[in-house]
Amino acid sequence: MSDVATNLRRIEATLPQGVALVAVSKFHPLPAISEAYAAGQRVFGESRVQELAVKAPQLPDDIRWHFIGHLQTNKVRQLIRLRPALIESVDTDRLLSVIDAEAAKEGVVQNVLMQLHVAREETKFGFSPDELLKYFSERRFENLKATHICGVMGMASNTDYESRVFEDFRLISDTFREIGRMCPDLRGFDTVSMGMSHDYLMAVDCGSTMVRIGTAIFGDRY
Ligand SMILES: *Cc1c(COP(=O)(O)O)cnc(C)c1O
Repeated sequence: MSDVATNLRRIEATLPQGVALVAVSKFHPLPAISEAYAAGQRVFGESRVQELAVKAPQLPDDIRWHFIGHLQTNKVRQLIRLRPALIESVDTDRLLSVIDAEAAKEGVVQNVLMQLHVAREETKFGFSPDELLKYFSERRFENLKATHICGVMGMASNTDYESRVFEDFRLISDTFREIGRMCPDLRGFDTVSMGMSHDYLMAVDCGSTMVRIGTAIFGDRY
Protein backbone atom coordinates (compact mmCIF):
# COMPACT_ATOMS: atom_id res chain seq x y z
CA MET A 1 0.00 0.00 0.00
CA SER A 2 1.16 3.55 -0.69
CA ASP A 3 1.84 5.92 2.20
CA VAL A 4 -1.25 7.90 1.32
CA ALA A 5 -3.40 4.76 1.39
CA THR A 6 -1.88 3.70 4.71
CA ASN A 7 -2.52 7.12 6.22
CA LEU A 8 -6.11 7.07 5.00
CA ARG A 9 -6.73 3.65 6.52
CA ARG A 10 -5.21 4.69 9.82
CA ILE A 11 -7.33 7.83 10.02
CA GLU A 12 -10.53 6.08 8.93
CA ALA A 13 -10.01 3.52 11.70
CA THR A 14 -10.20 6.34 14.26
CA LEU A 15 -13.40 7.91 12.90
CA PRO A 16 -16.77 6.84 14.29
CA GLN A 17 -19.48 5.95 11.81
CA GLY A 18 -21.24 9.01 10.51
CA VAL A 19 -18.15 11.23 10.51
CA ALA A 20 -17.20 12.15 6.94
CA LEU A 21 -13.58 12.53 5.92
CA VAL A 22 -12.58 15.35 3.57
CA ALA A 23 -9.06 14.77 2.21
CA VAL A 24 -7.59 18.26 1.94
CA SER A 25 -5.48 18.14 -1.21
CA LYS A 26 -4.57 21.84 -1.56
CA PHE A 27 -0.99 22.36 -2.74
CA HIS A 28 -0.60 18.61 -3.35
CA PRO A 29 -0.08 17.37 -6.90
CA LEU A 30 -2.40 15.19 -8.97
CA PRO A 31 -0.53 11.89 -8.34
CA ALA A 32 -1.07 12.23 -4.59
CA ILE A 33 -4.79 12.79 -5.16
CA SER A 34 -4.91 9.81 -7.52
CA GLU A 35 -3.34 7.62 -4.85
CA ALA A 36 -6.02 8.62 -2.39
CA TYR A 37 -8.68 8.06 -5.03
CA ALA A 38 -7.31 4.59 -5.76
CA ALA A 39 -7.59 3.88 -2.04
CA GLY A 40 -11.30 4.70 -2.22
CA GLN A 41 -11.35 8.33 -1.12
CA ARG A 42 -13.94 10.38 -3.02
CA VAL A 43 -14.25 13.64 -1.09
CA PHE A 44 -11.45 16.19 -1.47
CA GLY A 45 -10.98 19.75 -0.20
CA GLU A 46 -9.36 22.64 -2.05
CA SER A 47 -8.91 26.22 -0.88
CA ARG A 48 -8.27 28.14 -4.11
CA VAL A 49 -10.60 28.42 -7.09
CA GLN A 50 -7.71 28.61 -9.54
CA GLU A 51 -6.11 25.44 -8.21
CA LEU A 52 -9.41 23.57 -8.26
CA ALA A 53 -10.04 24.73 -11.84
CA VAL A 54 -6.76 23.18 -12.93
CA LYS A 55 -7.08 19.94 -10.98
CA ALA A 56 -10.74 18.97 -11.26
CA PRO A 57 -10.88 18.45 -15.06
CA GLN A 58 -7.88 16.10 -14.89
CA LEU A 59 -9.35 13.82 -12.25
CA PRO A 60 -12.29 11.39 -12.17
CA ASP A 61 -15.64 13.13 -12.21
CA ASP A 62 -17.11 11.18 -9.31
CA ILE A 63 -14.84 13.12 -6.96
CA ARG A 64 -16.88 15.39 -4.69
CA TRP A 65 -14.95 18.63 -4.24
CA HIS A 66 -15.39 20.72 -1.14
CA PHE A 67 -14.30 24.34 -1.30
CA ILE A 68 -12.77 25.24 2.07
CA GLY A 69 -10.86 28.51 1.51
CA HIS A 70 -11.74 32.16 1.72
CA LEU A 71 -13.87 32.92 -1.33
CA GLN A 72 -13.90 36.27 -3.09
CA THR A 73 -17.19 37.28 -4.62
CA ASN A 74 -15.56 37.78 -8.03
CA LYS A 75 -14.58 34.08 -8.07
CA VAL A 76 -18.01 32.71 -7.23
CA ARG A 77 -19.23 32.21 -10.79
CA GLN A 78 -16.12 30.29 -11.78
CA LEU A 79 -16.36 28.14 -8.65
CA ILE A 80 -20.03 27.28 -9.14
CA ARG A 81 -19.33 26.24 -12.72
CA LEU A 82 -16.89 23.67 -11.30
CA ARG A 83 -19.87 22.16 -9.44
CA PRO A 84 -18.41 21.84 -5.95
CA ALA A 85 -20.42 19.41 -3.81
CA LEU A 86 -20.11 21.77 -0.86
CA ILE A 87 -18.80 25.30 -0.26
CA GLU A 88 -17.75 25.09 3.39
CA SER A 89 -16.51 28.63 3.84
CA VAL A 90 -19.41 31.08 3.53
CA ASP A 91 -18.22 33.88 5.78
CA THR A 92 -20.49 36.84 4.97
CA ASP A 93 -24.10 37.51 4.11
CA ARG A 94 -22.94 39.25 0.93
CA LEU A 95 -20.98 36.21 -0.23
CA LEU A 96 -24.03 34.05 0.39
CA SER A 97 -26.18 36.38 -1.75
CA VAL A 98 -23.69 36.22 -4.60
CA ILE A 99 -23.53 32.42 -4.39
CA ASP A 100 -27.32 32.28 -4.42
CA ALA A 101 -27.60 34.54 -7.46
CA GLU A 102 -24.93 32.66 -9.42
CA ALA A 103 -26.34 29.24 -8.53
CA ALA A 104 -29.78 30.40 -9.66
CA LYS A 105 -28.32 31.58 -12.98
CA GLU A 106 -26.57 28.23 -13.44
CA GLY A 107 -29.78 26.38 -12.61
CA VAL A 108 -28.25 24.44 -9.71
CA VAL A 109 -28.83 24.26 -5.98
CA GLN A 110 -25.55 24.97 -4.21
CA ASN A 111 -24.89 23.28 -0.87
CA VAL A 112 -22.99 25.43 1.62
CA LEU A 113 -21.83 25.60 5.22
CA MET A 114 -21.71 28.80 7.24
CA GLN A 115 -18.23 29.44 8.59
CA LEU A 116 -18.01 30.32 12.27
CA HIS A 117 -15.18 32.36 13.68
CA VAL A 118 -14.39 31.31 17.24
CA ALA A 119 -10.59 31.03 17.26
CA ARG A 120 -8.41 33.71 18.80
CA GLU A 121 -6.44 34.36 15.63
CA GLU A 122 -7.46 37.61 14.01
CA THR A 123 -6.81 36.40 10.49
CA LYS A 124 -9.59 33.83 10.43
CA PHE A 125 -12.77 34.55 8.54
CA GLY A 126 -16.32 33.79 9.52
CA PHE A 127 -19.46 34.83 11.38
CA SER A 128 -19.29 35.24 15.13
CA PRO A 129 -21.69 32.89 16.96
CA ASP A 130 -23.94 35.89 17.75
CA GLU A 131 -24.01 37.03 14.14
CA LEU A 132 -24.91 33.56 12.97
CA LEU A 133 -27.64 33.12 15.59
CA LYS A 134 -29.07 36.47 14.51
CA TYR A 135 -29.00 35.38 10.86
CA PHE A 136 -31.10 32.33 11.69
CA SER A 137 -33.37 34.00 14.25
CA GLU A 138 -34.30 36.52 11.56
CA ARG A 139 -34.83 33.57 9.22
CA ARG A 140 -32.87 35.30 6.48
CA PHE A 141 -32.23 31.91 4.83
CA GLU A 142 -35.83 32.03 3.64
CA ASN A 143 -34.75 34.52 0.97
CA LEU A 144 -32.38 32.02 -0.65
CA LYS A 145 -33.54 30.69 -3.98
CA ALA A 146 -30.77 28.33 -5.05
CA THR A 147 -28.67 27.68 -1.96
CA HIS A 148 -29.05 25.03 0.71
CA ILE A 149 -27.39 25.64 4.07
CA CYS A 150 -26.29 22.19 5.34
CA GLY A 151 -24.63 23.27 8.59
CA VAL A 152 -21.59 25.03 9.96
CA MET A 153 -17.82 24.90 9.57
CA GLY A 154 -15.21 26.16 11.99
CA MET A 155 -11.66 26.01 13.20
CA ALA A 156 -10.26 25.98 16.71
CA SER A 157 -7.48 28.25 17.88
CA ASN A 158 -4.06 27.14 16.75
CA THR A 159 -2.63 26.49 20.22
CA ASP A 160 -1.19 23.70 22.34
CA TYR A 161 -3.66 24.53 25.11
CA GLU A 162 -6.07 21.66 24.80
CA SER A 163 -8.67 23.33 26.99
CA ARG A 164 -8.82 26.28 24.60
CA VAL A 165 -9.23 24.00 21.57
CA PHE A 166 -11.92 22.09 23.42
CA GLU A 167 -13.81 25.31 24.26
CA ASP A 168 -13.65 26.44 20.64
CA PHE A 169 -15.05 23.17 19.32
CA ARG A 170 -17.77 23.17 21.96
CA LEU A 171 -18.77 26.69 21.00
CA ILE A 172 -19.07 25.65 17.35
CA SER A 173 -21.21 22.61 18.11
CA ASP A 174 -23.31 24.48 20.70
CA THR A 175 -24.02 27.20 18.13
CA PHE A 176 -25.01 24.53 15.60
CA ARG A 177 -27.41 22.94 18.11
CA GLU A 178 -28.88 26.30 19.10
CA ILE A 179 -29.66 27.04 15.45
CA GLY A 180 -31.39 23.68 15.19
CA ARG A 181 -33.51 24.47 18.26
CA MET A 182 -34.36 27.93 16.95
CA CYS A 183 -35.35 26.67 13.49
CA PRO A 184 -36.63 23.11 13.90
CA ASP A 185 -38.14 23.32 10.42
CA LEU A 186 -34.69 23.72 8.76
CA ARG A 187 -34.25 20.72 6.53
CA GLY A 188 -30.95 18.96 6.02
CA PHE A 189 -29.14 21.16 8.52
CA ASP A 190 -26.99 18.35 9.89
CA THR A 191 -23.29 19.03 9.26
CA VAL A 192 -20.68 20.25 11.72
CA SER A 193 -17.38 20.45 9.85
CA MET A 194 -14.53 20.82 12.31
CA GLY A 195 -11.21 19.14 13.02
CA MET A 196 -7.92 19.10 11.10
CA SER A 197 -4.84 16.88 11.21
CA HIS A 198 -3.68 17.90 14.67
CA ASP A 199 -7.00 18.28 16.45
CA TYR A 200 -9.62 16.15 14.71
CA LEU A 201 -9.99 13.58 17.49
CA MET A 202 -10.98 16.29 19.93
CA ALA A 203 -13.32 17.77 17.31
CA VAL A 204 -15.03 14.39 16.95
CA ASP A 205 -15.41 14.20 20.74
CA CYS A 206 -17.12 17.59 20.59
CA GLY A 207 -19.67 16.55 17.95
CA SER A 208 -17.96 16.97 14.59
CA THR A 209 -19.65 15.16 11.71
CA MET A 210 -17.01 16.10 9.10
CA VAL A 211 -13.25 16.37 9.49
CA ARG A 212 -10.94 18.11 6.99
CA ILE A 213 -7.53 16.44 6.99
CA GLY A 214 -4.58 17.31 4.78
CA THR A 215 -1.14 16.91 6.33
CA ALA A 216 -1.89 13.63 8.10
CA ILE A 217 -2.86 12.09 4.75
CA PHE A 218 -0.57 13.73 2.20
CA GLY A 219 2.34 14.99 4.30
CA ASP A 220 3.63 18.55 4.49
CA ARG A 221 2.59 21.17 1.94
CA TYR A 222 5.30 23.12 0.13
C1 LIG B 1 -5.61 23.40 5.01
C2 LIG B 1 -6.92 23.28 5.72
C3 LIG B 1 -7.24 22.10 6.41
C4 LIG B 1 -6.32 20.92 6.56
O1 LIG B 1 -5.28 21.21 7.44
P1 LIG B 1 -4.23 20.06 7.90
O2 LIG B 1 -3.63 20.65 9.12
O3 LIG B 1 -3.25 19.92 6.79
O4 LIG B 1 -4.98 18.82 8.16
C5 LIG B 1 -8.51 22.03 6.98
N1 LIG B 1 -9.39 23.05 6.89
C6 LIG B 1 -9.10 24.20 6.25
C7 LIG B 1 -10.13 25.27 6.20
C8 LIG B 1 -7.86 24.35 5.65
O5 LIG B 1 -7.59 25.51 5.02
